[in-house]
Amino acid sequence: MSYNQNRAVASACGGGFTTNSLGLFKESRRVIMKIQRRFRTSRRGDETPLLAEKCEVETMTQESKQFIYLDNNATTRVAPEVVETIQAYLRDQYWNPSSMYEPALMLARELDAARESVAKSLGAAFPDEIIFTSCATESNNAALFGGLRAAIKADPKRNRVVTTKVEHPAVLEVCRRLEKDGYHVDYIGVDKDGAINMAEFVHALRPGETAVVSVMHANNETGVVFPIEKLSRIVKQTDPKIVFHVDATQSITKLPVDLSRDPEGDDSLSGAFKNVDMLSFSGHKIHAPKGVGVLFVRRGVAFEPFMLGGHQERGRRAGTENIPYIMGLAKALELERDKIVENGQKMARLRDKLQTAIEERVPYIVVNGKNSPRTPNTLNVAVYGAEGEAILVLMSERGVCVSSGSACTSGSLEPSHVLTAMDVPIGALQGNFRFSLSRYTTEEEIDRAIDAFAEVVMRVRMTSSKWNAYMDEPIV
Ligand code: PLP
Repeated sequence: MSYNQNRAVASACGGGFTTNSLGLFKESRRVIMKIQRRFRTSRRGDETPLLAEKCEVETMTQESKQFIYLDNNATTRVAPEVVETIQAYLRDQYWNPSSMYEPALMLARELDAARESVAKSLGAAFPDEIIFTSCATESNNAALFGGLRAAIKADPKRNRVVTTKVEHPAVLEVCRRLEKDGYHVDYIGVDKDGAINMAEFVHALRPGETAVVSVMHANNETGVVFPIEKLSRIVKQTDPKIVFHVDATQSITKLPVDLSRDPEGDDSLSGAFKNVDMLSFSGHKIHAPKGVGVLFVRRGVAFEPFMLGGHQERGRRAGTENIPYIMGLAKALELERDKIVENGQKMARLRDKLQTAIEERVPYIVVNGKNSPRTPNTLNVAVYGAEGEAILVLMSERGVCVSSGSACTSGSLEPSHVLTAMDVPIGALQGNFRFSLSRYTTEEEIDRAIDAFAEVVMRVRMTSSKWNAYMDEPIV
């Protein structure tokens, strides 16, 4: 379908942000969130399982069901090799690496080795450019608050931040707080394919005034990739003192990230991320556990610590290091280091198979971000004329774990800010899904997910008032 056709379909399905359709949209979210809350309580044994009643399905326990996990942008399974690494440290190496007796000193050396290994995986020149944090949210907070504070300290006129409308809340909420605190933030828009508006970006950069630019490498909902090399070059050409931060949470290990700089300054021998000053990501998206993250801060870049307390991480992030998980994260990166292209090709082949099959078998769907470069593992699909929540519940009943791009599952009543920024009509926002694969995803799982999705969408549409309304309207 063309974009115009899509818009026509959307309007037939109640598209357009009228107060009425937004009200209905929020109402349907409220209902499903109520079901989810009751379902959660029922699992604690306090209530009858409402979800099972409503859907007339037998609630299966996790043990009795084989799940097809296609929600790897939310989190990933921990690699067995990583589990093994972590267990050894949890069991035997409980020392505090800041202590001064022999086993602790040896552990501190192992921490140094892990830092070196992470630096190597990213092409960072110095291990001390790697700061271990608790997650990507903390890394993003530290980068924005820490980068801005340091910039203002050096020059009070530098009080502006530039970011995009489609960042993760771990950046957007920080920016909103900064605005409340009196700083100026420019939010750069994207087009219908999710590509950044370059003219707006260039216009927003103010030499001598912009302190920090924060742009994600890949979008968590659509997988759309921003041209970091180009954006960072423009920033440095505008004003080399602007700090360029990248949220690489969704791209690390899926796309090459090379922060290296040739010591002689030869650009042709440097990595594509040579102009990046700070970079964030977390362990749980790369087959390491939740509770550990990384912030890269290039040597020479001014940075005020965000977490205050002890002198860990060379005074840049206080708090006793989570040694087992740091070791696990370093191991996870090592496992992927030389396999980014190979794993990417495998995931892209399966993702493309899923996309093609869904496009062939399910009429009136749109793939968001399809015309832009995307991470190899992500597929964002809008289904017209069907209630997204019903599809999600029935997919889950069939053991297929996907997520709703419309954020209902994450506890919000608002439509996705990413898809809204892409001008996706509300009729499509209501039936929006994200499939995200990992290197563990198999062909058989994709085949089963295709069958399940085609069957579930047909079933939901058969009983959907939206579908009837849509069918009554001609398609332009
Ligand atoms: N940034 C992006 C792009 C993300 O996708 C996420 C999580 O989904 C985060 C930041 C936050 O990551 P964490 O859960 O490690 O705090």
